[in-house]
Amino acid sequence: MRARALLASVLALALLAAGCGDDDTRRLRSAGPPSPVASGALPADPAPAATPRPTHDTPTATPLRPLPTAPPAGLRRTTGVHGVALTFDDGPSPVWTPKVLDRLGAAGVTATFCVVGAQVRRHPDLVRRIVREGHQLCNHSWQHDIDLGRRPVAEIRADLLRTQRAIRAAVPDAQVPFYRQPGGRWTPEVVRVARGLGMRSLHWSVDPRDWGKPPAETISKRVHTAARPGAVVLLHDGGGDRSATLAACPGLIADLKTRYGVVGLR
Ligand SMILES: [Zn+2]
Repeated sequence: MRARALLASVLALALLAAGCGDDDTRRLRSAGPPSPVASGALPADPAPAATPRPTHDTPTATPLRPLPTAPPAGLRRTTGVHGVALTFDDGPSPVWTPKVLDRLGAAGVTATFCVVGAQVRRHPDLVRRIVREGHQLCNHSWQHDIDLGRRPVAEIRADLLRTQRAIRAAVPDAQVPFYRQPGGRWTPEVVRVARGLGMRSLHWSVDPRDWGKPPAETISKRVHTAARPGAVVLLHDGGGDRSATLAACPGLIADLKTRYGVVGLR
């Protein structure tokens, strides 16, 4: 009896899916629990069309400045001490950030979270947890505009301030001592604006390219090979499926702890 009922509902679903329009597809999808990947991806703004976007949200009509041929002065790439630092970019993500925080807590280390303003606005509770557990915050722009440094200075400033305000709305007395330019596409202008807002420009010295979603072992191996005393390691807790980064964390952290020690950035 149960098998027949199951068969009937499977058939009904199949018929619905086969002949359905968009509405049915949406209804079918919304019936099940959200998949980790779907909810881990950066969600669309809830009402992008209804609210007029502020000017700094849209690319300016002004032509972009060219990127400098050499990185500008004033980028921080090392911890300044023997220990190495971990940095996690593009969150907070409701799927991955809590798990990363769990791993860091289990290992007894702290890290720096380079947060995206739009994500901060959606998940202020996660920013509170990051701060509560002793980690450092870094401004990573409002919506991860990799060309931000090439835009007019007023737009750069408005973007960084908007992100700063979202962080302070979550944690009123939050310290945000660092800014990290999305894509590492630094310009002297963005470094100067960040400094004017009290933030040092934080780059990195080890990039295991976890954004390309290699297997966890590859991420660990790349960090192991490239790490030196004082290294700043770039990892990601947001912006997509971070299961490989998460899986790499315990081994990678244990390795760095043994060889150099893991320190928070100061
Ligand atoms: Zn990023």
